[in-house]
Amino acid sequence: MDYLKIPNVSAPASRLGLGTWAMGGFQWGGTDDAVSVRTIHTALDQGISLIDTAPAYGFGHAEAVVGRALAEHGRRDQVVIATKVGLERRGDVLYRNSTPAQIASEVDTSLRLLRTDYIDLYLVHWPDPAVPVEESARALLAVQQAGKVRALGVSNYSVAEMERFHRVAPLAAVQPPHNLFERQPEQDVLPWARAHGLVALTYGSLCRGLLTGTIGADTRFPADDLRRGDPKFQPPRFQQYLQAVQLLDRYARTRYQRSVLHLALRWCLDAPNTIPLWGARQPQELDPLPELMGWDLDEEAMRYVDEVLREAIKAPVGPEFMAPGPRPETVPSPSPAPAQWE
Ligand code: NAP
Repeated sequence: MDYLKIPNVSAPASRLGLGTWAMGGFQWGGTDDAVSVRTIHTALDQGISLIDTAPAYGFGHAEAVVGRALAEHGRRDQVVIATKVGLERRGDVLYRNSTPAQIASEVDTSLRLLRTDYIDLYLVHWPDPAVPVEESARALLAVQQAGKVRALGVSNYSVAEMERFHRVAPLAAVQPPHNLFERQPEQDVLPWARAHGLVALTYGSLCRGLLTGTIGADTRFPADDLRRGDPKFQPPRFQQYLQAVQLLDRYARTRYQRSVLHLALRWCLDAPNTIPLWGARQPQELDPLPELMGWDLDEEAMRYVDEVLREAIKAPVGPEFMAPGPRPETVPSPSPAPAQWE
């Protein structure tokens, strides 16, 4: 395993991070905590030191599972815990809320669930259009100065928003989406992060399972699975993405004696200064790990990948469907129609 230094974080961060969204259960067809804990232990034992979680994942459930796994495993000081802030739960819906009050209360809940007295990396999950970026940044800086978190980050922010945040509270990391099918951050967020010496924890490395090669046209997802509402998984796009996966898998097998899953994760790893997040939730899903290190994709492979994507996917779409909405009371109501005078 290779490691990176995240500014202000003492433990080295592994080049691959374990994502725990699915371990929260909600929107992922349920979950088995004992299996999740074993997966976290397997990841740690194989050299993955960065665990990415969030209060939003199962409304605190994923954080609690991470807390339990770390308490049972020990060696907390060698682990980099990344968690997030800034989403408010109302019933089963999450809304953006990065007010100072929300930040101050959420951090204590996360510390309790994670069973720790510090969070290594604390990221705002989504920008809140109803709160000036500087106000959220000042609140985060206060939490950092209180010693509750070591380093700050933001997720799903634009470059303009990151610049405003960074001027008030120095960022150590950002978290944009990035995988073979979702590459928009290559245009702005990733170069900005690199130019400012920040690490990018890139999410959705396997595009919610699409790039594992185990999903087919006849795959049925459980009722509460978010992929039922993911536009990539709807016809006719779904067939186009599946065709791309098939071609990439064939190429990976012929050229590298590996699968599309290896190709997809290696492609993410080849982006400099990134820590791709891998949403594995069963120990055996981490089996490919040893075959991911010690090689990279050459120019010919990169060209082939681009060609496949261009040819197979006629109407590409990003991960925007998963963006939570603003709090309803912060959305200005449409101005009343002007009175009609005869
Ligand atoms: P992902 O890693 O792209 O894909 C997860 C899916 O891949 C799961 O369905 C899992 O299957 C499957 N999978 C993993 N390893 C596999 C293997 N070896 N064989 C077959 N299937 C395998 O998706 P993600 O969870 O969306 O993204 C990764 C992490 O990024 C998240 O967990 C979270 O920490 C972070 N994230 C952050 C944001 C943000 O807004 N900041 C948004 C999304 C994600 P099973 O379901 O069968 O286990």
